[in-house]
Amino acid sequence: MPARLLDGKALAEAEKRRIAERAGALRSAGRPVRLDAVLAHGGSDAASMVYADNQRKMCADLGIDYRLHELPVGCRAAEIAEQVERLNSDPNVHAVMVHMPLPAGVDAYGVQSLIAPEKDVEGVNPANIGNIVYGRVSLAPCTALAVLKMIDATGLELKGKFAVCVGASDIVGKPVAVMLMRREATVVSCTKFTEEITLLTRRADVLVAAAGSPGLIRRDWVREGAIVIDVGINRVTGADGKTRTVGDVAFDEVREVAGWITPVPGGVGPVTVVMLLDNVLASAERGGH
Ligand code: NAD
Repeated sequence: MPARLLDGKALAEAEKRRIAERAGALRSAGRPVRLDAVLAHGGSDAASMVYADNQRKMCADLGIDYRLHELPVGCRAAEIAEQVERLNSDPNVHAVMVHMPLPAGVDAYGVQSLIAPEKDVEGVNPANIGNIVYGRVSLAPCTALAVLKMIDATGLELKGKFAVCVGASDIVGKPVAVMLMRREATVVSCTKFTEEITLLTRRADVLVAAAGSPGLIRRDWVREGAIVIDVGINRVTGADGKTRTVGDVAFDEVREVAGWITPVPGGVGPVTVVMLLDNVLASAERGGH
């Protein structure tokens, strides 16, 4: 029987409705929800502008006040840091993010580390991943939250299950592995250097692919009935010369063996976008503390 589809678009829409309700409740209580985003122009940031515009529209739809703080082309690390510090110390601000990429020469890790952990809605301050490790209140990285959200949508109890992450980047693979560990799954984190990787993946109850390698996960990598979450977003050109987006999972063949599978596009991507706003609400409900 082919795998059941984990529809990211439908999950995202359902989550958006819940977010709008939560934002409405806070607004009625005199605590309007807002998201403050910093955009430091680097000169070639059409993609960040599109992202910021989409974010503004989605926030407007959900009753979240979106404030974009733009810094001009040529701005330096110190100016970006000052802007972040201003937002950190403003009691009316409870959710802060900094659009990537930053201008050439500005250290993204340094800037992200400055965002107050309790306002860091992208979960990029290293303090937040530390808080996850120690089981403290944390704003987790959005892609990792989306992966967990999709696993939860299957109804699986993760405790004691065997989970394999293919890919161990700081931004996706490692946070996913840590969050699965918090749920008391048995977690194996693989990289391109892992030997005999299929011996591990074939045992997985939950297989998360975040390698950035199109079609890497083949049918014979996957245990029958496994939950397969595909984080990969890869642009490939087909034999017909057309460019399309594919994941790290060879979808058509893996769906024949998996129990659940996420499509690309329309899987983890749309849920990730919404998890950022879920973090905004979580932060607003705590009052940014
Ligand atoms: P990265 O390049 O920083 O890290 C890739 C990781 O995969 C590394 O740990 C590497 O060792 C491992 N890897 C690469 N090839 C492998 C192989 N053949 N076998 C085993 N491991 C292998 O990538 P990233 O930033 O983590 O992104 C991974 C993918 O996820 C990309 O396609 C990216 O576009 C996508 N992504 C999606 C979302 C989303 O919201 N859906 C968010 C971020 C990234």
